[in-house]
Amino acid sequence: MTNKIYSTDAYAKSMAATITDVDRDDNRVLLDATVFYPGGGGQPHDIGEIVIGDDRLSVVRVEADGDQVWHWLEGGLPPVGTTVEGRVDWDRRYRLMRTHTAMHALCGVVWNRFQSPVTGGNMKPGDGRLDFELPDWKPEYKPEIEAELNAQLARTLPIEVEFLDRAVADQDPSLIRTKVSLLPADLTTVRVIDIVGLDRQADGGTHVGSTAEVGVIRIGKVESKGRGFRRIRVALEDT
Ligand SMILES: [Zn+2]
Repeated sequence: MTNKIYSTDAYAKSMAATITDVDRDDNRVLLDATVFYPGGGGQPHDIGEIVIGDDRLSVVRVEADGDQVWHWLEGGLPPVGTTVEGRVDWDRRYRLMRTHTAMHALCGVVWNRFQSPVTGGNMKPGDGRLDFELPDWKPEYKPEIEAELNAQLARTLPIEVEFLDRAVADQDPSLIRTKVSLLPADLTTVRVIDIVGLDRQADGGTHVGSTAEVGVIRIGKVESKGRGFRRIRVALEDT
């Protein structure tokens, strides 16, 4: 089992870890702890490096397999039992945290005004898109939503991480803002991200600790994605 440090401390940039398994066919290692986000919920996996003494190996891909997190490395693999230091590409990751938080804030703004669920989404560092069920769209909504989004972010709302028992989470349907619940059936603990007063939902990704860290957001193209669906793009102003 891998201690998923990113799940409780999004600001951890590095970690000490021990290699617990080596897959030479795929050039990947298992670690007993990691700060590398393995991807999911529209947020891409982290990249970075593993440091062993004077050697630095690039981490080019990360993926979760149940309780374990695999790290794909470039170069020769060290043996099981080796102690390593992992360092995430922090500039990239921090932009993903700001982008991901902006998308949750957009989700909250759209929900408060239209009660529209999310039907899909994706992001890269600095920008992302969310698809909503929004049947009646008018062009003037775009500047209005952008203004409301930035007003909410400027309130310096705290963002809290909670862990709920599955039975408790299941009694609160508002935690699922996607049209279809993406929670695996066997999940016993549900991680919840709360932008206090704006948006609260089940989520596995990494986010900033305050909306002030997101900065100013620009809403890009709003496209129609078939009958009643709209794709809204957001971007950090400083990227
Ligand atoms: Zn999310």
